[in-house]
Amino acid sequence: MLWWLGAALFLWLALREVYYGFVPKPGFAEPQKIFGPYLVVTLALACACAYPPLRTWRFEQFLTRQARILSGVEQAKVHCNTFFDTAVDPMALASGHADFESGRIVFQKPWCSVLRRYLRHPEKLDREGIISVQMFAHEAMHVRGERNEAVTECQAIQRYLRAARLLGIPEASARAGGMLYYQSLYQQRQQIGGMQAAYYSDQCAPGKRLDERLPDSLWASP
Ligand SMILES: [Zn+2]
Repeated sequence: MLWWLGAALFLWLALREVYYGFVPKPGFAEPQKIFGPYLVVTLALACACAYPPLRTWRFEQFLTRQARILSGVEQAKVHCNTFFDTAVDPMALASGHADFESGRIVFQKPWCSVLRRYLRHPEKLDREGIISVQMFAHEAMHVRGERNEAVTECQAIQRYLRAARLLGIPEASARAGGMLYYQSLYQQRQQIGGMQAAYYSDQCAPGKRLDERLPDSLWASP
């Protein structure tokens, strides 16, 4: 919001400069000469302020399209919270959350940035980046209507490869990232206990009760 206000302010200053280049200011007989450097600087600042929210909006559109494919839910919609959004979000402590009825998926600050950075270099297998892909898949499973966290998490694990491909991650990085999540980060949730344990199930494994036997499951043979 602040970025948009900044962009609007600088655009207004630029347009004002142009306007008074053709229309005399009150009390003046002639229009003033347009000061080129001032016009360039104000327009550049307007563009600079508009770029971050536009980039986020485009990323949200991309994530929304892919979340609809992954979930099969047409009204799925991804929103990247700003600092302000996160500060006033009643679920601010959750990295992400989804509304089962409306299909709205929210990523808290800074998880959209984490995911966007990771998509540029998935071969680095950055742990936070891997978690952000899993979070995307997890919330997409929620909008299908699943409320149980352990079941949702297991559905997302099995679709990690599918989610990673939709996000444009190359096959080798997608599989390596997914296996790192399942074999390490996911197993740690059980050891940490508390809230984290609610996301874990020992039935989330090949051949166990939560195995959906998907042909492109993370743990299916390539
Ligand atoms: Zn959840």
